[in-house]
Amino acid sequence: MYFTDLTHFLDAKGAIAPKIGPARRLAEFLGGVVAAASAQERGVATEPVLCRNRKCRRPITSTIAGDNAIEWVCAKCGEQGRITNWRRSFWDLSEGR
Ligand SMILES: [Zn+2]
Repeated sequence: MYFTDLTHFLDAKGAIAPKIGPARRLAEFLGGVVAAASAQERGVATEPVLCRNRKCRRPITSTIAGDNAIEWVCAKCGEQGRITNWRRSFWDLSEGR
């Protein structure tokens, strides 16, 4: 279970802070999850986000929980996490941005 505060991956301008390596890939994955979940909240379908487990790469599912955290899970391999502090980030495609 990955608990992520999205702001920890962003620089002062709101861009992805890690430039290379696993942290960068994780940040890109998280951004994709936020974009998909927030678009879904508006009723807009997006390309599925693929599991970050390289041996899996199945589409994950995401929902927005009552406390506004995005909960994502891979039904295939069981990887899952929660993303907080994503509202108003670059990837927030929900209403009001
Ligand atoms: Zn998986």
